Parts: sequence; structure tokens; C-alpha cells
Amino acid sequence: MSAPNIETIVSLAKRRGFVFPSSEIYGGLGSAWDYGPLGVELCNNVKRAWWRWMVYERDDMEGLDSSIILNRSVWKHSGHEETFSDPLVDCRECNARLRADKLDYAGAAEGDDIAALIRDKQIKCPKCGAANLTEPRPFNLMFRTQLGAASTEDDPNALAYLRPETAQGIFINFHLVQQTMRRKVPFGIAQIGKSFRNEVTPGNFIFRTREFEQMEMEYFVRPGEDEAAHQEWIDNCFNWYASLGLSRDNLRLYEQPVEELAHYAKRTVDIHYRFFPERAEEEKHWDELMGIANRTDFDLRAHSKNPVDAEGKRINPDSTEDLSYFDEARKERYYPYVIEPAAGVNRSVLAFLMDAYTERTNDKGETRVILQLHPDLAPIKVAVLPLAKNKPEIVGMAKAVKRALQPVMRAVYDDTGGIGKLYARQDETGTPFCVTVDHQSLEDEAVTVRDRDTWEQERVKVADLQQHLQTRLLSK
Ligand code: ATP
Repeated sequence: MSAPNIETIVSLAKRRGFVFPSSEIYGGLGSAWDYGPLGVELCNNVKRAWWRWMVYERDDMEGLDSSIILNRSVWKHSGHEETFSDPLVDCRECNARLRADKLDYAGAAEGDDIAALIRDKQIKCPKCGAANLTEPRPFNLMFRTQLGAASTEDDPNALAYLRPETAQGIFINFHLVQQTMRRKVPFGIAQIGKSFRNEVTPGNFIFRTREFEQMEMEYFVRPGEDEAAHQEWIDNCFNWYASLGLSRDNLRLYEQPVEELAHYAKRTVDIHYRFFPERAEEEKHWDELMGIANRTDFDLRAHSKNPVDAEGKRINPDSTEDLSYFDEARKERYYPYVIEPAAGVNRSVLAFLMDAYTERTNDKGETRVILQLHPDLAPIKVAVLPLAKNKPEIVGMAKAVKRALQPVMRAVYDDTGGIGKLYARQDETGTPFCVTVDHQSLEDEAVTVRDRDTWEQERVKVADLQQHLQTRLLSK
């Protein structure tokens, strides 16, 4: 089972301390969300799982943390200043601002010119239904800011951007990482961090926001070896999501048609997740979870001082470095091709929450929500619960059990309700195990371990508890 729609997750997320609407006491801020006590743990666990898989478990990977604000030249030569935009239309009737590429063009063929379609086919505003839209025009998605105290709003020398992707920070550090870590191509550089896009139509909870977090990796390969490496990364990434519990029925690969490809891409395959299962048409269930692009040698060339145009003029007069690579073994110099798996932390969190959502009826006929998160992602691994909170010996023992577990796994102590309520609360937040301390425990030095997914209980000696839980967390 998985969540019937995103709304179900919005309310669970607020009720249980995962995600809150940001700035709520001031009426909120469109598309901004704050991650609560359980949300921050879930985000951190997703990032930790990605980093472990991407960096630690491989021998050809390095990590990086580059600045959010970079020299403006980076965005000039990456092409973002000129082309990082969405086509924007206004509805002349209700003044809605809309992304022209997201309107309903039922019956149109792929590759049709959207400006012509809007003009000729009387495309309707999804907000008010009127067919009175303006011509599409490009709207740059980069957030602008000024650097320094002396700057005025229109001082071009002070203009800077918040990064709209983490990738460029990797390209400009390619040589430094390669040389300091004595790397030979092929190798990759991974980075996790915040990105900012002034999205025209943010929405669908944490699916599309203006401030979000990305997990990106740039894998540098010899030209000619790019296609095989690309395919390998597509398969790897798909399997990573599945290994962390996303149902394969809710995942699919989407090959971007040529006319959809970014100007730098040779081939891009997206991993789609079934974010919208409530929609009538199956094709509309899906949207992008991550993209895996073959960016060719576009980026390293674009940031290099050497390449020249047909007249022999430097294409990039601002760069002081040539980012080509000398392959010692082959005695050849080239600009490596780049394979880029790029995922959103927040979109991944949404997919994991939706997929984990399960309902079960207990023997009293009540519906209970269970969040069947993969144990690596679960915000809390074990909750220790005293059966009687007015018995100091039981409370003391439960707290001691919690303290003993804490160095090796995230454990909490909770005595704020009856045992049924406490179990239900932990099920709903995805805690794989509850440990109950009762009267008997004081005598036999044993506790009850309850499984989130089966609700089965078993008696375990306190001395064996840590080992028992660790083994079961690994085998879940
Ligand atoms: P979309 O088509 O949904 O706007 P994109 O193709 O522009 O996404 P990329 O530039 O490939 O996205 O970014 C890589 C990943 O970063 C996306 O697959 C997504 O998970 C995440 N991402 C991109 N934009 C946003 C956003 N505004 N909010 C949340 N996550 C985002």
C-alpha cells in the first residue's frame, strides 16, 4: 500500500512533527516548509544513506561542499544567466501566472510549438477556464542578490545569485579535487546542499519549493565511455530507491525526448515516482524524482580558458584555468564527459513518506496508520515505553534501557499515554521497534520487543537487547 494522495501526507506530516508550513504564525509563506523534529531526522537519514551509498561504498568517489554564492561568471559561462528560465504566461482574465510548459495541451504532438498552440488552440487557464493567455516569455529562475554594503540595487558589479543547482560548484573545483586527491578519470564528485529557484508555480507540498536541497554527483569519464557509464548510473540510481523501500510499481524510467533535452545534454533519463495516484489518467500519476543526464564535455569546456570560436577568439575570457585532463596511460588530453545523477532531498523524502504509508485495521476494528519506512530512514529506531509510569522502578529501568541503546541507535523514551496510544504513535512515525518494560522485567531482566510491521511481540533479555535490535534492523 502507499498514500492515496499527497494531502494525506501533508496532514500526517504536520500532526506528527515531520513538516510544518513555514512562518505559519504570520500567515505562512507560499511554498516554504519547515522540517520538524522527525522531519529533520528523516532528511538527515536520506542524505546519510545517499552519501554512504554514493561516496563510502565506492572507490571512485570524493565529496565536496562548495559555496551557495559563487562568482557571477560561473552562471554566465554555465549558460544559466541566459537560459535558466521557464516560459511564463499570464491569464488576462484572472491574472494567474502560469508555466506555459505545464498547461494542458490535450491532443498536441510532442515537439509542437507551445506559443503557437496557445494562440491557435485556445488553450485554457487552469485557474479560471478562460482562453485568454499572453504569449509565453522567458522568466529567469535564479534568485538575485547584491554583495557588499556599498552596493545599490542595480549595481551590476555587486550582482550575485543564489545557486540554482549544486553541480556548477563541482565543475569549477574539478581540477582541485582531481589533483589534491590524485584521482584518475573515471571518478566522481558528490555534493549535497541547498539550491534556490524562483519557481513560477511552486506547489504540491515539498515536491516543488523555491528553496530545496539537492544530492548531486558528477561522474567524469573519457569521451566514448560515457554512454555505458550513463546506463550504469541509471540502473544504479533506480535500484538505490528500490533498495530503500520504494515499490517498483511506483517507480519508472522516463527517457526525455530529444526536444525536451537541456542544451548541454546528449541523453537524459528521469526516474519518475507515482506522486499523483489519485489522478484519473495513469499517465498523469507520474513526475520526476531525479534526473540522470549525460552532460557531455559541455561544462568543463565552458569553464575553461582555452576553447576558441571559429575566429580564434576565446569563448570564455574570464576563466584563468583550462579544465582539460591529461590521461597519463594513454598520453592523451581531453575534456572529460560528465554523467550527472541529480536528486532532490525533499522530493525523495516525499516519495519515501508516500510509499511507506500503510493502513491496517486492528482487532477492535479501528484503522491505524503505519509508516513502513526502511529502518535506515526511520527517524527513531526504537522507543522504550514503561508499562506503568507511576512505578519508579519501571520508569528507572526503562530510562536506563533507553540510555544504554542511545550510543548505537536513535532511541526515545515515552510515557505520555497508555500503551496502546504509545504503540500507535510510534507506528505512525515509522519506528521499527517498541520496547516495553513491565513488572515482570524487574524480576527477569527481560523486556517485550514489538515489531511495527507485524505487531508481533517477543521477550528479550536486556543483556541481549542491543544485539537483538541491531540484527533485526539490518534484516528488516
Ligand atoms: P522539474 O522539471 O521538476 O522542475 P528539473 O528537471 O528542473 O525538475 P533538475 O534540474 O534535474 O530538476 O534537478 C534535479 C532534482 O532536483 C529534481 O529531480 C528534483 O528532485 C529536485 N528539484 C528540482 N527543482 C526542485 C524544486 N523546485 N523543489 C524541490 N525539488 C526540486
